[in-house]
Amino acid sequence: MPILPQPSPYYMSSNFSYWELSSFLSGYDVMIIGSGLVGLSAALHLKQSNSLLKIGVLEAGFLPSGASTKNAGFACFAGVSEALDELETCTEADLVRIIEMRWNGLLKLRKNLGDKAIDFVQSGGYNLFNNKQNEQAEYCISQIGYFNNITKDITGIPDNFSVAHHKIAQFGLQNIGHIIQNKSEGQIDTGKMMQTLIGKVQSLGVHIFNNCAVKEIVEEANGQLIKTTQGNFTSRKVIVATNAFSKQLIPELNVTPGRGQVLITEPIKNLKIEGAFHYDNGYYYFRNINGRILLGGGRNLDFKAEETTETGLTNLVQDSLEKLLKEVILPGKKTKIEHRWSGVMAFGQELKPIIKQIKPNLFCAVRCNGMGIAMESLVGEEVADLALCRL
Ligand SMILES: Cc1cc2nc3c(=O)[nH]c(=O)nc-3n(C[C@H](O)[C@H](O)[C@H](O)COP(=O)(O)OP(=O)(O)OC[C@H]3O[C@@H](n4cnc5c(N)ncnc54)[C@H](O)[C@@H]3O)c2cc1C
Repeated sequence: MPILPQPSPYYMSSNFSYWELSSFLSGYDVMIIGSGLVGLSAALHLKQSNSLLKIGVLEAGFLPSGASTKNAGFACFAGVSEALDELETCTEADLVRIIEMRWNGLLKLRKNLGDKAIDFVQSGGYNLFNNKQNEQAEYCISQIGYFNNITKDITGIPDNFSVAHHKIAQFGLQNIGHIIQNKSEGQIDTGKMMQTLIGKVQSLGVHIFNNCAVKEIVEEANGQLIKTTQGNFTSRKVIVATNAFSKQLIPELNVTPGRGQVLITEPIKNLKIEGAFHYDNGYYYFRNINGRILLGGGRNLDFKAEETTETGLTNLVQDSLEKLLKEVILPGKKTKIEHRWSGVMAFGQELKPIIKQIKPNLFCAVRCNGMGIAMESLVGEEVADLALCRL
């Protein structure tokens, strides 16, 4: 009989060295879960407030894998038809607060990272109405004065919204009957924005761990034990910034995922489209980027199917995007689609994000809806301040 090797009597819970355990996996003041815009903005604010704090970020994906590197890069803070929709579910005071948060958040993002680094351009935003939406368009146009008053108080810019029907021909759009311009809306290069933000927090000494999904957070006598796919971390405080995925860690949160599908064309000669365009109450959106059209939306065609944290593309949505491209955006032009992808947003019954303390040492900042880029620097700051004042 061969002699089998005997199992070692020495228990080894992991192969981490003493050095790894003491320097990389333990002793955090604040551990942030999720390396999207909110999580990284929180990390930035914590380090800027106190450079001695040990801050870590745990990210499930190889790259951030929710919305922050997948979005369309609209630096938007309000649109007339979308704002009127929003008023159906919130009070005017709530809407004003949200618009203010988006506007101030955008200023903060630009100040933190610099317009050049993120390719910010104030190209203008456009609310489009097709030929069958005349009644809705006329109602929205009648509300321009009302929204100009609201935004003037926030931005200091008069007459932000205006009718711009002459631009329909200038942009080469077809089947569009009405257009409302938002002169302060801008565009960002999403990839550059996230690269710059990651570089900035790392330069301040924040440890970011990728491919490290958090499975559970356990409250222990001397801090939080964070169980991940790579091993266990310890930290005094934890901030959950996992947006659409938040119910996996905090089931009681009122967060519903909403997948957004996107496509991008090949470069187009003499492209006339310039700006950030919202169509069908914002359910579709498109912009120019490096001579191409980036186009997304169509979640409203099947809300239930798109209520998922899974990545993926569907024929229903992709066909509708291509139809819009052919019939409205680039009529009469044969255009190759070069690439397609999806990302996941977080929605809820209320418009405002959830920023709160869940337990004495556990905080969350999630659910920035579909216009998150603008407000997230402030959302990150707010949750960081909650954790800071209890450190
Ligand atoms: C297709 C699309 C287009 C959009 N376009 C725009 C736009 O033009 N303008 C705009 O303002 N907003 C837009 N948005 C919305 C905006 O991108 C989001 O509001 C914003 O990026 C959300 O940031 P976040 O940090 O809250 O979440 P996310 O960026 O989703 O970050 C959450 C992170 O948590 C990680 N994570 C999840 N679970 C775990 C776990 N258990 N352990 C560790 N990590 C975990 C995820 O991988 C993810 O990286 C768009 C979104 C999508 C999907």
